[in-house]
Amino acid sequence: MTAATHSTLFPQVPDTPDAVLDGLDPEQREVALALHGPVCVLAGAGTGKTRAITHRIAYGVRAGILQPATVLAVTFTNRAAGEMRGRLRQLGATGVQARTFHSAALRQLQYFWPKAVGGELPRLLERKVQLVSEAAARCQIRLDRTELRDATSEIEWAKVTQTVPADYAAAVVKAQRDAPRDPAELAQIYSTYEQLKRDRSVIDFEDVLLLMVGILQDRADIAEHVRGQYQHFVVDEYQDVSPLQQRLLDLWVGDRDDLCVVGDASQTIYSFTGATPDHLLNFRTRHPGATVVKLVRDYRSTPQVVHLANGLLSQARGKAADHRLELVSQRDKGPEPVYTEYGDEPTEAESTARRIRDLIAAGVPAGEIAVLYRVNSQSEVYEQALADAGVPYQLRGAERFFERAEVREAGTALRGAARAGGNDSLLDGADDLAAQVRAVLSTKGWTTRPPAGSGAVRDRWESLAALVRLAEDFEAARPGATLTDLVRELDERAAAQHAPTVQGVTLASLHAAKGLEWDAVFLVGLTEGMMPIAYAKTDEQVEEERRLLYVGITRARVHLSLSWALSRSPGGRASRRATRFLNGLRPGSGTVGARGGTGGGGGIDRGTARTAANRAPAVERKPRSPVRCRVCGRTLTDAGEMKLMRCEDCPSDMDEGLYERLHDWRAAQAALLGQPDFCVFTEKTLMAIAEAVPSTEGELVVIAGVGNRKLNRFGTDVLAICAGETVNDEAPQDTDET
Ligand code: ATP
Ligand code: MG
Repeated sequence: MTAATHSTLFPQVPDTPDAVLDGLDPEQREVALALHGPVCVLAGAGTGKTRAITHRIAYGVRAGILQPATVLAVTFTNRAAGEMRGRLRQLGATGVQARTFHSAALRQLQYFWPKAVGGELPRLLERKVQLVSEAAARCQIRLDRTELRDATSEIEWAKVTQTVPADYAAAVVKAQRDAPRDPAELAQIYSTYEQLKRDRSVIDFEDVLLLMVGILQDRADIAEHVRGQYQHFVVDEYQDVSPLQQRLLDLWVGDRDDLCVVGDASQTIYSFTGATPDHLLNFRTRHPGATVVKLVRDYRSTPQVVHLANGLLSQARGKAADHRLELVSQRDKGPEPVYTEYGDEPTEAESTARRIRDLIAAGVPAGEIAVLYRVNSQSEVYEQALADAGVPYQLRGAERFFERAEVREAGTALRGAARAGGNDSLLDGADDLAAQVRAVLSTKGWTTRPPAGSGAVRDRWESLAALVRLAEDFEAARPGATLTDLVRELDERAAAQHAPTVQGVTLASLHAAKGLEWDAVFLVGLTEGMMPIAYAKTDEQVEEERRLLYVGITRARVHLSLSWALSRSPGGRASRRATRFLNGLRPGSGTVGARGGTGGGGGIDRGTARTAANRAPAVERKPRSPVRCRVCGRTLTDAGEMKLMRCEDCPSDMDEGLYERLHDWRAAQAALLGQPDFCVFTEKTLMAIAEAVPSTEGELVVIAGVGNRKLNRFGTDVLAICAGETVNDEAPQDTDET
């Protein structure tokens, strides 16, 4: 670990308020110094918007201009809020509330409910779908899974646009919205859903904001109380504010104007939920005296990544695009983006996992790598591929690190050791802080080398390893620090929810990646139908998809990979095409459409794609036969169904007894290997085996999720179990892990 990393993880708290400003460029500094009155920052991705507002708050607090408890910073996700609290703390400013709209509103609602309404706040409904389904049934409307999801989204849209059931149909017309079914029916479901909630005394996610808005509107005394507490407001990612959030913000601010908003219209990716960049773009109209600052220097990404991002935006159309800002990279040049076309999806995933393994071997930390996709269901094939490649991953981010059981246990153990001081025999011979921490955490499952594979055991180890790294960095930054100092640091971080970087590759949807950054980003599944997503029909919807890709591209600091597969299943018909958004930007894709580009393809080596393809081992191009349903013969395209080798709905002919025996055997293997069960075989693969009852290696290897590697490791056992024999529980030899 380099000195630079220590200083990033444990930067010295700036000595003076002015020193807080040192890390800013002139425009960012202008933002930080504009502490009163309305401020609007319009800037592209990676230009330091979040950094500017964080420094602004820290400077204001440190200079004594802002009272920390009177500042409310609103960010988009809990993770972003946690990061902001962490950054504020590093800048020496504590006590500022950094929350999402939802968590800020929920906190206020819990506090004011007894006074405003009386009694306990109703229980918060975790998921709407069940209740929406019940509501539809009461209205005698049958909805399949997709229709149910659409109906639920419509209800959410109606609520965030503050549309009551009776007005829904008219609102759909007014917003020129393409309702997924007859608006009258949807209004009926919506109304019944609201009634069911009342009957059962539950509230949903949107109600939290709606109720708080209602209370602030109706109760002048409570509004005054809230306004007395918060006097300065900062909103990050303001381009995606919904009408309901805006209404709440207006009520918080009242007739004052200490409001600072930052955003990038080109990153509007939630308009499908009712969010709109209008509030950002019209800010100056609503606040004529506003300080407006534009930032164009991109500090995040290399010129190669920025070139592609600019090229993509140059093709954008519509309102948000009219406000685009051309980014100028401030970084040294890096590798060109790599474009790769694969034969099928599993091959794309396997190859991506291999490339990630190579990057890690070349020194890129796993925590600095992300695989981003359009819809969450795309994650499964990547989870499996990374698990097979022995690469640790996490399915979103490092949020709530300090809430994890193993981290809390480790904290208790460290606290105990710190209290015992020199009297703890555990610490004998451990003369420096990091060695002491390693000694204590080894009683909790930390080992010098990580356990093989991914999953729960590995996750636990990763958390402990993150604490060990944190201790090493802490000691390097503060020589002579004691265990007590470290425990205090951990407590403070836990209070600020500032998690250390966990060393796992992030798997996330493009939506969830907003505001974040990684050294290496893999944008996968970039086919027409996924990007833009099939249900994006109108020009506006397609533009939103383009912006989503822009968000994805601009998450990368250095390495950027864009890939797609021509067919979903191995051996399937190559019916897919690469996303239209890369036309004219990637090598060999023709010219840009009507609006033209800024020479987006110019900087990209045409050989890159070929090189990437050439590097791929022969096995990737080996044609595989399509997977067909064993029962009805239909060609399968769904990953889960492909593993089962039948349609989910087709009848199962599974041998239940065999399935039970395989299950027990899997649990024993997993325990022996110290890995989670799914690393041996996933549930679907196990079911497929119990249904197929293979009697030869040939029959076993073709079952999805088996393959040569697992055949070598477990084939003998599985075939023996299928033949009704008993097998002993010795750990198999790992023959191909080199
Ligand atoms: P997004 O639009 O994706 O939310 P952003 O505009 O909020 O991006 P930040 O996340 O604040 O950008 O900054 C991007 C990266 O650039 C961060 O790593 C940040 O620390 C760095 N950065 C920003 N401004 C500067 C600066 N003046 N000097 C050095 N690094 C900077
Ligand atoms: Mg940001």
